Parts: sequence; structure tokens; C-alpha cells
Amino acid sequence: MSMVTRAPDEKTWHGVLARASDPASLANLQRQGEQCGWCAHPIRLIGNSVSVDTSTGEILRSYSTNDEPDGVLLKACGTRRATRCPSCAALYASDARMLVRAGMSGGKGVPESVSQHPMVFATFTAPSFGAVHGARGTRPCRAGTNQQPCAHGRRATCHLRHRADDPALGHPICPDCYDYEQSVLWNATCPELWRRTTIYVRRELARLCEMNVKELDQSVRLSFAKVAEFQRRGVVHLHAILRVDPRDGEGDVPHFIDAQTLTSAIRAAASKVSAPLPAGFSDAPLASARWGRQLDVRVINASEVDGDDADSSESRRSSRAVANYVAKYATKSTDDLGALDRRLTSLDDLDARNVSVHLARLVTMAWRLGALTHLARLRTWAHSLGFGGHWLTKSRRYSVTFKFLRAERQAWQVQRQHGTAPNEQSINIGVWKWIGAGWSSLGDAWLALQGQREKVQSRTEAREARCIERRHDADLWDERPRHFLDFERREP
Ligand SMILES: [Zn+2]
Ligand SMILES: [Zn+2]
Ligand SMILES: [Zn+2]
Repeated sequence: MSMVTRAPDEKTWHGVLARASDPASLANLQRQGEQCGWCAHPIRLIGNSVSVDTSTGEILRSYSTNDEPDGVLLKACGTRRATRCPSCAALYASDARMLVRAGMSGGKGVPESVSQHPMVFATFTAPSFGAVHGARGTRPCRAGTNQQPCAHGRRATCHLRHRADDPALGHPICPDCYDYEQSVLWNATCPELWRRTTIYVRRELARLCEMNVKELDQSVRLSFAKVAEFQRRGVVHLHAILRVDPRDGEGDVPHFIDAQTLTSAIRAAASKVSAPLPAGFSDAPLASARWGRQLDVRVINASEVDGDDADSSESRRSSRAVANYVAKYATKSTDDLGALDRRLTSLDDLDARNVSVHLARLVTMAWRLGALTHLARLRTWAHSLGFGGHWLTKSRRYSVTFKFLRAERQAWQVQRQHGTAPNEQSINIGVWKWIGAGWSSLGDAWLALQGQREKVQSRTEAREARCIERRHDADLWDERPRHFLDFERREP
């Protein structure tokens, strides 16, 4: 659902009036909306549940949708994508921020001592699959002196100074020269390339410490959290927090491993690691997936603020800024508008989605490659341009899990509703039936959108107040989750 408020049409208006004319019905909608966080596409359920104390057999609470005025329970869709549901994505972003932050500064059961461990924030990019248009500030896109046209008669130059919102950005200068096949195969191989990278980083760390990997593994452990983001040209790149912990979780990391050693190990690993690309259509010898030359590694400053000392702003990032980055990327979609949020059922399905020519070519290539038996999975991943990995992953010891954070939130809600913390010895037994998705009428959907806007507004205001309080608003303004920016941009 778009965040732009349109005046409701007649049918919607009719539904709005029906609710508004009955205060009890409106109050019920309000309560249900708040319960599902004003989700844009809530799941509608009927059924009942009981909470039983397992030690005594006593029924602590019972609930049935029969007692609901509308006869249904609305459950939030829980998507991570801001384009699908801004409310659920905001919650996901907040969990992602907490999870990542706890791994850098401690909290949520993670000891604060992690903040003293060697820790960096690294961005791994994909190699080039052909020249694309790019925004380069005041410089032209591709000034280049190479005036030789390609086989298709196009010159790899562009003298425009593209604006940041130019739809041409990320599009190839020559679509016929651009290697769509390699681009899709690289995305498909990226998770394996990352897995190997974590092994290589350990290997390089050991080399720098003049020990073998086994010896290194006996004293330290490499922990990480990473998020994948699509660049405009349609390839993923990875933002990762890498941390070195003492093996047993306690004590100190050996003094000869510091953030600089970790940085050197990452740089060496990124330049050496490769993963075999699967065979595509061409009979060219099998190539390997490697990282692109652009690799950014910054030491994470566990304190709140960027730039504690003179040289810090360039090479260091505060843990809060990093957590905000990750949260922002975690809710992004393959394309800006979310046209590729869902899987494809056929190539005809793509026509209706109105994506850019470049993205459509990538999707088509993934779909076509999916016809090869060993690449059948690419059909499932065509909408993510071949990438089939998880968007946000972490190693087991990095921090808490999403599951833990959700359980904690649920417990807090129970506490708020019933005035008592959930009984540790209780279990919930429920029978539920799915009866549909989305708000049951256009009027309700419109009212839900208003509720959701109000929520975003109040949260934005709270953030603004905090920013001003902390006196480094410039930093945070750049790093608010994307849907906040969208919201403001569209406001008159
Ligand atoms: Zn939702
Ligand atoms: Zn250009
Ligand atoms: Zn060409």
C-alpha cells in the first residue's frame, strides 16, 4: 500500500462512514488496528486459545474470536519490506537495529565486554559486469577518453551529471555488452562466496599472527552479522560487522589481534577468495565469483558518537550509525518500488510489474537460466535477480536472535494487558483458521492507513526530538530508515 493519501473514492468513503457513524464499531477498529500495529495487510483468523499452567493444570486465560465484535483476530503480516507494509517493516528494522547493536555494545543478555573486542564494519561489493551510469557528484558520469565504440556502435562515455534520483542510474551504457548471465550467476553464488570469505578471514588472521588456523581457533572465534543490499545495477553487496571474540566467550582477545589486524585479514581474504560459478548457457570455461575491487572496512567505535578524535570520522563508525545502516538496508526491496517483492509464476507475470528495462532483463535471464536442470532454483529466485540467500544473517554467537526479541516483546505486551508477567510454566494451546488477508473493507483499509501514518508521524517526531537532544542530528538524519524519508518527501 502506498503511503500517499488519496481522497477515498465513493466505495471507500461509504465504508469509512459506516465505521465512523458507529462509535463502538470505530473503537473496535482502533483497538484491532493497534493490536496488529496498523499492519497494511493483516491476516484474518478465527479460532480460540487457552493459556494453561502446566504445573497446576489451571487455565490462566482463554480467548475466542467469537467474543470479538467483528468476529476475527487480525495478525500483523510481519514482512521486512517497507514497500509491502511500512508498519511491520518498521518493527523489523527496530529488531534488526537492536540485534546488531547488542553485538557491538552489549545488552539483551550480550555482555558489555563485546564492545572491547576487535570489530569492524565492512562493505563487500560485486565486480563489474559492464559499464553503467552512475552519480558522481559534480563530476560527469563517465568522462573517459576512450572514444572507441563497442561492437554495437556505442561509446562507453556519458557526460551527464546524474542526479541521485535519475532512473538511468545503474542502467548499462550498452545493454548488449552488459553480462546479464554472469550478473545473475554471481548473485546466486554470493552466499557461498561469503561462507568462504569467513573461512579465509580466519586463515589470514592466523597467517598475520604467525600461527596455524587450528591454533587460532583454539584462542579466538570470528563472529559476524551481515545484511545484503541490492545496488541499482541489480547485484547484491554485503554490509558486515565482523568481531573477534575470545574462544571461551570470557577473558580477553590476545593482545596481538586488534581491529587493524582484523582489517588487514579481511582485505587479504577478500582479494584471494573465490567460489566457482555454475555453468550457464555459454560453453566458456567455468569462471569464479570474486569480490569487486571496492572494499570498505572501518573500525567500529563502540561509543555512541562518530568522530571522537580528529582522524576518526574517516576510518571509524559509531556502533549506532552502523546499527542504523543495517536496519535501513534490512527493510529494502530488490527495486525501489517493491514490484519484485513477490515470486514470479511466469515471465508473463513480469510484464504486469512495470520494472525498469535493466531489471526486467536480469529477471528474464534468471528465469531462462532456471530452465537448466542444475539451475532450476533460479526460477524461485528470479524476482531477487538470482540471489537466494537470507537478507540478514548472523553467526550464532554474534548476538541475540529475532526470535528472542519477538518473545521479549510478546511478554511485555502480556504484562501490559494483564498486569502480570507471563507465567514461565504456562503454554498456549490454540486452534486457528485462516480466513483471509488484508482489511475486510476498503473503508477499513483507508482508516488503517491513517492509523499507520499517525504512528509513523509520532515516531518521526520522537526521533526528531531525540536528535535535537543529542545534538548530532546531521548524522542521524542521513540514516533514518528509508520509509521515513519517503514519508517526508511525499508530504507537501
Ligand atoms: Zn504488516
Ligand atoms: Zn551516465
Ligand atoms: Zn556494446
